[in-house]
Amino acid sequence: MAELTALRIDANRFRANFETLAGFGATADGGIHRPALSQAHLDARRWFLQLAGQIGLETRVDEAGNHSALLGCGPQGGRTLLLGSHLDSVPYGGRFDGALGVLAALEVLQVIKTEGVSLNTHLEALDFTDEEGYFVDFLGSQACSGVLKPEHIQAPRGGHDSFHAALRRAGMNQASLFSARRDPATVAGYLELHIEQGTRLVELGVPIGIVTGMVGIRSFKLRFIGRADHAGTMPMNRRLDAALGASAFTLSARELVMDEFPGQVVNVGHMEFKPGAFNVVPQAATLALEFRADEDHKLDEMEAALLQLAAIQARRFGLGLETEPLVRTPPARMNTRVQEAFAEASQVLDLKHMPLSSGAGHDAQYLAQICPAGMIFVPSRDGFSHSSREFTEWQDCVNGANVLLQAALMLAQY
Ligand SMILES: [Zn+2]
Repeated sequence: MAELTALRIDANRFRANFETLAGFGATADGGIHRPALSQAHLDARRWFLQLAGQIGLETRVDEAGNHSALLGCGPQGGRTLLLGSHLDSVPYGGRFDGALGVLAALEVLQVIKTEGVSLNTHLEALDFTDEEGYFVDFLGSQACSGVLKPEHIQAPRGGHDSFHAALRRAGMNQASLFSARRDPATVAGYLELHIEQGTRLVELGVPIGIVTGMVGIRSFKLRFIGRADHAGTMPMNRRLDAALGASAFTLSARELVMDEFPGQVVNVGHMEFKPGAFNVVPQAATLALEFRADEDHKLDEMEAALLQLAAIQARRFGLGLETEPLVRTPPARMNTRVQEAFAEASQVLDLKHMPLSSGAGHDAQYLAQICPAGMIFVPSRDGFSHSSREFTEWQDCVNGANVLLQAALMLAQY
């Protein structure tokens, strides 16, 4: 045990690999453009497999295109502890989102292989397909967890033709995506290192965030209904102006959530007026409402409060109101034992750590459905992400990879 806690990743090698990877789809401003299944993404994935092969790891690509490097360091027929993230990026994104976690996972396998350590599980470094949802949100991890259903791929972003062309380019096909499902009995757990994409760690000066769970998301379409009138002749006090209800709701929803649901978030991301002319009082205003919270009961309370607020604002301006529920994603809890292992690993490395919930979705929320799953975050400068401004100090990246290594060693010995 004593010698295992002394193991560290090779920071220089890790950095050299990180810089090489950032060359695939590199943009002039230092970011990357590597949408899922684009040529740059496929090139990055091929490089990842080559690198794994050079290290002496087995490689595998499953039916959902998930790329793996495997280290058989456990007993014959033993389960596998998965470590991973994603090599795809949002269009014109940053170098750290996803890439850091995949290369840290590979580095962990390389260190353990070099040391010749025998563990109670095998290890696998995974790059999941289309985490960012260029076509289908979390395509690879949903398929791997057996959560993917035919309806999830019925309306890929960008349309069927480009999705099918991309699958063909990657040597995949739609019918076999579902065969990527893992037998949960073969999976010992899932660990992921990721950048925070927020400002909490930087503000508090804490290098390691241990994720407690991913927020749940609910969304609604709200339609305020008034009456179209001549915008020049109808007196102001006699109008039934749908825009007023939608606008007043948007402003007051922000206040409501900040006052009554601290730490949770609400967003009105789209608003459309009908008929939509300079000289016509809006007859209808439809808005896209989304809110997120880390616990189901908070989502229930927010939903009730926000819908009540919409009704109040509609009444205030003499409007009708229609509400249509859309997405309903429950919060995902991260495994307690895995959180403890991350805390213990941080202590071994003498790194401060704190619990954090994640406001963004991650592959780990799907893996959590088939195995004990957990994540750690490292600080993001100014909270920038999904942008070329994304930046994490290299020492923070190294710290995160070492915590991943130590936590993997602890969990793989049970
Ligand atoms: Zn990511």
